[in-house]
Amino acid sequence: MRTQIYIDGQWLNSQSDAYFDVINPATEEVIHQLPSGCEKDIDLAVAAARRAFDDQGWPQTTGQQRAAYLRKIADLIQQNSDDLAKLEVLDNGKPLAEAQGDIADAAGCFHYYANLAEQLDEQPETQIQLTDERFNCYVVNEPVGVVGAIIPWNYPLLMAAWKVAPALAAGCTVILKPAENTSLTALELAAFADEAGLPAGVLNVVTGQGSTVGHALAAHEGVDKIAFTGSGAVGSSIMSQAAQDIKRVSLELGGKSPFLVFDDCDIEAAVEWIMFGIFWNKGEVCSATSRVLIQDSIYTKVLTRLVAETKKIKIGNGLDEGVLLGPLVSKKQLDTVDQGVKRAQQVGAQLLTGGQRAAQFDKGYYYEPTILVDVPLDSEAWNEEFFGPVVCIRPFRTEQEAIANANRSKYGLAAAIMTQDSIKAKRVAQKLRAGIVWVNCSQPTFTEAPWGGFKQSGIGRELGPWGLASYLEPKQITTYMSNQAWGWYIQP
Ligand code: NAD
Repeated sequence: MRTQIYIDGQWLNSQSDAYFDVINPATEEVIHQLPSGCEKDIDLAVAAARRAFDDQGWPQTTGQQRAAYLRKIADLIQQNSDDLAKLEVLDNGKPLAEAQGDIADAAGCFHYYANLAEQLDEQPETQIQLTDERFNCYVVNEPVGVVGAIIPWNYPLLMAAWKVAPALAAGCTVILKPAENTSLTALELAAFADEAGLPAGVLNVVTGQGSTVGHALAAHEGVDKIAFTGSGAVGSSIMSQAAQDIKRVSLELGGKSPFLVFDDCDIEAAVEWIMFGIFWNKGEVCSATSRVLIQDSIYTKVLTRLVAETKKIKIGNGLDEGVLLGPLVSKKQLDTVDQGVKRAQQVGAQLLTGGQRAAQFDKGYYYEPTILVDVPLDSEAWNEEFFGPVVCIRPFRTEQEAIANANRSKYGLAAAIMTQDSIKAKRVAQKLRAGIVWVNCSQPTFTEAPWGGFKQSGIGRELGPWGLASYLEPKQITTYMSNQAWGWYIQP
């Protein structure tokens, strides 16, 4: 495990000389200490990223050259995937098989954006057909500049990849600020960038608290863009700060995503996808389908199967065989989830299973998979994220009612529909106000497809060509094609 931060191609101690504890959520043991970065570290990192961008030629490299670095990083992630997956389990608590999937996806993301970097070379400019033929106009895409990437703790390396890979592919330089709970694999990423020979300053990684390091990065006038994933409150404060110097921002802020289960669906499949939608990654998922609406004619049948299957979920240390639900990431998250469930019960929600810390463990932030019904529509539980393994369920009668309740949210990240009627699926999908709609599934995520939300779930899209475009600035270059004077002030 690394013990230093990575700035300008060098491993350094923080200027603060302070450290913070890394806690294994499965055992509550302090397993490591990492530098508690400070404003001075951010100043150094931004200065290095600016030099790499402004003076040292990174934006002028070809897409092919950048692709070569990205592929080397991807290869190093793949070669070290077993160790990375274990680090992710130690840091975040997720089951090993899930962590292995994340690491493979992170490598895949670097490969994908390597290909897109090369495509930038193939299409260096786009000719624009103007109505005024005296002018010739073409558009080039240039990198946005220095990017501050601030990421959460739920998919540590994968969230880093979603931001770092497209930013580097575009020709940007990056300062990555991992979540304080889960910084171990971000530092490994820096080590891979170093081993891949990425020029100094192109990628910098500074660990530390959000209120110091994250704040300093978001406020820094040397940063051109902040790419953030995390809570709405911090996203909103980052956007306010960005307004001071008109920084670009992209925000991915989570949601309270609805899952509509129609009575013509396959019930076994519905139960499986409801579980996947809320218990995968312990429900610490921005797109978790945490509000389930079930058509009244199959309501009891689905609930009975769901409760029975949920009770069988094996909870435990993510490194143990067969575990499907690991500990929550931190004591803070455990308390947030537990207190939220208690408040839901106080306003009338009924607990069908779970609703407490898993009693079989003396240590570790384990929480039972939890099902709440009769959750009032105007309650906090129905409208706000738990960000844990807690699903809220209500019945519905008609398609219209289901859509209305699904859309009755300040969020709009994702939604899911279970039905065997493809015409209904298409009709409902069009009416749902969400950036992602899954039909007969929940949560599958693809590097090639856009990721991001409507409404308060964020601004902008990650992944696919949309992810690359968010790190590019289009520039028009227009030429007056006549050699005669324009004739406004001086007559030809
Ligand atoms: P958070 O928003 O506080 O943290 C996310 C990242 O932002 C971390 O790297 C953190 O260090 C940084 N940060 C914190 N304060 C900052 C500031 N003032 N300026 C700049 N950066 C700052 O999230 P959290 O406290 O770890 O979790 C709280 C809630 O956020 C969760 O319960 C969940 O609802 C939500 N969340 C959402 C996602 C998502 O994927 N959208 C991920 C994690 C958490």
